[in-house]
Amino acid sequence: MSKHSELFYKKLDDYYSDRNKKKPWNITELTEVAAEILRAKQNSGKKTRRQYHLLSLYDVLEVAEEKIVIKKDKHDGGKYVSVIPYEKIFNVVCEAHINVGHGGRDKMIHNLKTKYDVGRYAIEKFLETCEVCQKKKKQVSCKSDHKTYHFNKL
Ligand SMILES: [Zn+2]
Repeated sequence: MSKHSELFYKKLDDYYSDRNKKKPWNITELTEVAAEILRAKQNSGKKTRRQYHLLSLYDVLEVAEEKIVIKKDKHDGGKYVSVIPYEKIFNVVCEAHINVGHGGRDKMIHNLKTKYDVGRYAIEKFLETCEVCQKKKKQVSCKSDHKTYHFNKL
């Protein structure tokens, strides 16, 4: 793991434990969810509450050997976005961040929202831990301090 991803996951872990929230599914859990959805779809009989719940929000796409869990898009109910396991959130967010040239939160949300189900906090934690962006931020604030100083002197 890179230093950046370690920092990112530390912040994200804290985010979930501070708020007593359940973390997104990891690879093992997501595989289990995919199997459960497929079972529920094949089973015409009575479904469990969990199966009803899963079917109301998710579906499974089978691409070659892979089973991808997809979720109804919050912004567009007719569309679906991929659910990413916890371990892969960093990679997905990182790729989007590079794609938008170290762009900010809104650019990243725009880049991700039609493809992946990624929480806003994951994007925020990523930006807080991106060295390049943090350096840029510092430079900007140093410049403005400098201006204020000159202004006061005059
Ligand atoms: Zn950056």
